[in-house]
Amino acid sequence: MVAPPLPVPTTLSAARPWPGLADGLLGRDPFAREDRDAYEARGGHRDRRPAGDGADRLSRLASSPGLGALLGRGGAAFPALTKIRAVAAGAARAGVPPVVVANGAEGEPLSVKDRYLLRYRPHLVLDGLLSVAEALDAPVAHVYVADRAAQESVASAIAELDLPARGPQLRVFTAQDTYVAGEETAVVRALTTGIARPTDKPPRPFQVGVGGAPTLVLNVETLACIARAGLPGGQDGGSTFLATVSGAGRSPVLYELPTGLPLGALLSEHLGRADSGIDVLVGGFFGGILPAWPDLELSHPGVLRRGGSLGCGSLHLLAPPACPVRTTADVVAYYARHNAGQCGMCMASTSAIAATLAELADPREGVNYAALLPRWAAQLRGRGACAVPDAVAVLLRALLRSHPQVVTRHLASGCDQCRREPGEPRWGHLFVSLPADDEAAADGVPAARARELVPSAGGTR
Ligand code: SF4
Repeated sequence: MVAPPLPVPTTLSAARPWPGLADGLLGRDPFAREDRDAYEARGGHRDRRPAGDGADRLSRLASSPGLGALLGRGGAAFPALTKIRAVAAGAARAGVPPVVVANGAEGEPLSVKDRYLLRYRPHLVLDGLLSVAEALDAPVAHVYVADRAAQESVASAIAELDLPARGPQLRVFTAQDTYVAGEETAVVRALTTGIARPTDKPPRPFQVGVGGAPTLVLNVETLACIARAGLPGGQDGGSTFLATVSGAGRSPVLYELPTGLPLGALLSEHLGRADSGIDVLVGGFFGGILPAWPDLELSHPGVLRRGGSLGCGSLHLLAPPACPVRTTADVVAYYARHNAGQCGMCMASTSAIAATLAELADPREGVNYAALLPRWAAQLRGRGACAVPDAVAVLLRALLRSHPQVVTRHLASGCDQCRREPGEPRWGHLFVSLPADDEAAADGVPAARARELVPSAGGTR
C-alpha cells in the first residue's frame, strides 16, 4: 500500500530572521511595508553623492563592509563587485554612460524572496540601486519586476523619494512572468525590445547591454545587501541570505539565515527535528536533490562541495514518501513546458529526459536507462542560450550521485510513488506564493506561473 502524499501548503505563512540576528533584510515587522520615513529612521538613504568624481564614489562603494565577498543572489553567485567594476570599465572604454537594473523578475517557482523585498522593503532595494547607479554615474536605473503588488510598492517608494533631477532617475519595468525572464540577457533584451528571451553569449550585458550600453544587472537581494552594509550597525554584505523554505507538509517560511549555517540547525528550527530521513531540493529548480545532511553548510561553496548548487537560496524539503526520482521528473517536466522555445537542444532534451524519468515508474524492457541518464548529465552543460540545460544536468548528476540505490531500485522494479494518472498535475506542489498571490488555476498551479511564455512586450512606467 502506497502512503498518501503529504498535503502541500504553498502560501508563505511567516518571514523570520534567524534567532539572534539584528534588524537585517526582513526588519522587525516582516509583513509591514517599510516606507521612506521608517527606512530613514533606521539610517537609510544617507547622502550617496559626496564630493568627488565617479572614481571616488566607486572606490567608496567598493569599501562597503563585505562587498568584496558578496556573491550575487540571483542564482549564479557571481562576485558582485567584479560585475560592478566590469561595467564601470566597459562604460569608460565605450565612452557612454552605463545602465543599471535591479532584477526582481524571480521566475523561480520555489522562491519568493525578491518579490518579498520589493513589496515590503522597497527602500532597502532602491537605496542599494541608487548607491550603485551613483557610483557608476548611470543616468537611469530600472527596477525589473513582474509581480503586480511589488510594482505598486516600488512605484510608491519612488514617489516617496521625490528624486532631484540631478542624479540617477528610477523607472519600473513590467517584466513578463516566465521562468527565463530574469536571466540577465533576457532582462537586457526585454528592456531593449520588449521580448524577455535569453540571447547567446558573448557579448555579456557588461559589454553590450540595454540600447548597446554596458549594463549592470543585479538581483534585488544583492542590492538590499549592499544597502544594508551602509546602515548604522548593519551586517556586512554577505553575512546572511534569504531562504524560502517549503515542503515536508509544512507551510513555507522565508528565513534570513547566517551564511554557512548547517542544514541540521535549520531543520531543527523549521521541523523540530534534524533527522536524516529526508531529502532537500536545493536552490529552487536549479540545485539538485541532496540528502538533508545535517552538516551541509548553507553557502554557495558549501553546497557546491556536496554536489549541488545553492542557487537563489530556496530549500524545498522532501519527506517520506516523496520520491527524489519523481520530483526530478516533475522539475524536468516543468522545464520541458516552460523553456523559452528557442534552442533546439534544450527543447528536445528536456522533453526526452522528462519522459524518460517518468518511465522509471515502470521501466520499459530494452531501454538502457543506466547509460542514458549519465550521458545526458554529461552532455547538457552549456548547450543553450541560458542555464536551463545546465540546471537539468545538475539535477541528473545529483540524482545519480546522491541517490544511486533509489535509481537502481526504480530500474529493477519501478516505483509506486512515480506512477501517476494521465493528466495528473506535475509541478503544482513545487511552488511557493506570497499571501496575496495564491489564486489557484485549474491544474493546481497558481495562475501567474501557469501562464505560457508569451512574447508580448513589457513596458516602463
Ligand atoms: S536554453 Fe532552453 S530555456 Fe534557455 S533560452 Fe534556450 S530554449 Fe530557452
